[in-house]
Amino acid sequence: MANWQQILKKSITTVDQLIELFGEERIDREAAEAAIENFNLRITPAVLAQIRRDGNTFWQQYVPSAEENEVLDGVADSLSEDDDSPVPNITHRYPDRVLFLISPVCASYCRFCTRRRKVGDPEKIPLNQFESAFQYLEQHTEVRDVILSGGDPFMLSDRRLEYFLKRLRTIEHIEIIRVHTRIPLHLPERVTADLCKMISKYHPVYVNIHFNHPAELTPPTERALAKLSNAGCPLGSQTVLLKGINDDAEIMKELMQKLLKNRVRPYYLYMADPVAGAEHFRTGVEKGLEIIRALRGWTSGLAVPHFCIDAPGGGGKIPLLPNYVEEISDDEVVLRNYAGEVYRYPLPKELVLASIL
Ligand SMILES: *Cc1c(COP(=O)(O)O)cnc(C)c1O
Repeated sequence: MANWQQILKKSITTVDQLIELFGEERIDREAAEAAIENFNLRITPAVLAQIRRDGNTFWQQYVPSAEENEVLDGVADSLSEDDDSPVPNITHRYPDRVLFLISPVCASYCRFCTRRRKVGDPEKIPLNQFESAFQYLEQHTEVRDVILSGGDPFMLSDRRLEYFLKRLRTIEHIEIIRVHTRIPLHLPERVTADLCKMISKYHPVYVNIHFNHPAELTPPTERALAKLSNAGCPLGSQTVLLKGINDDAEIMKELMQKLLKNRVRPYYLYMADPVAGAEHFRTGVEKGLEIIRALRGWTSGLAVPHFCIDAPGGGGKIPLLPNYVEEISDDEVVLRNYAGEVYRYPLPKELVLASIL
């Protein structure tokens, strides 16, 4: 049986290959060439099988399009991650946790990538500059949570990934490690028994997987999730709201329920960031609120992710909620439940008195 490195080598990486597969009618050579000039092309066999089976959902996520070459308001680093970077590969924005980029590459490249300015380019996520990052983490005793991302951390060899986990575990104040990945979907073969065994030596290691559509949960992907879960990794999912792909309450409900069946807890639902080259994926904010309204109360509370905007300019993730509060007066709160019915919650009498006196 082929190992994951061999399977990865069978990926599509050129416009010629795309045209060979899908024809000149479906692939605009000039536009696709220009798009991949800015952001790499790679489509793994697992994703290609999905494109063949499901068409649009996967096509839009992975096949370069002419729209990527049109920049309206989008910027390269919309989240100002580079401004909040004290040393190469580290973004330190929140009080007690950091983002640590340890891999420059992904198995497949999502065309809506927020970090498309540097992902796929080893010069921009330098692999020879980790010492300053480790020193930063050692010195900053307030950091208790490290998020490994990139690129995709599971693109590293077991040996290399273990080097990071082992080194992080020598730093006493680091309590939890998170791995952010799309490998269970892009290259499920990568989730080997050896990988799982290695990770389980360094717990607690949380794994957050990026899922956008219920069709992404294929049998091989589900098996990869089960392996990670059985290895003791708490699994979470992050979803980006994408125009024409998942901007639909029914699709989202199916996704979230399917994730729970696979022991994956939905975590965040993001508005698409205003990133140059990925603006055609953006939706209005009402769509996200409508989706949350369609989930909360109508299905398991476990299935409801936090809907957020990662604020441009580096403000971090800011949650958005549909409005369930009609009115707060001195003696009661007027609320609307998930079904739209009005309920009154009386406030404690002492508080009412205190506000009168
Ligand atoms: C998202 C993010 C985190 C983690 O935020 P949580 O809300 O704890 O998941 C940390 N640092 C950066 C820079 C981030 O973008």
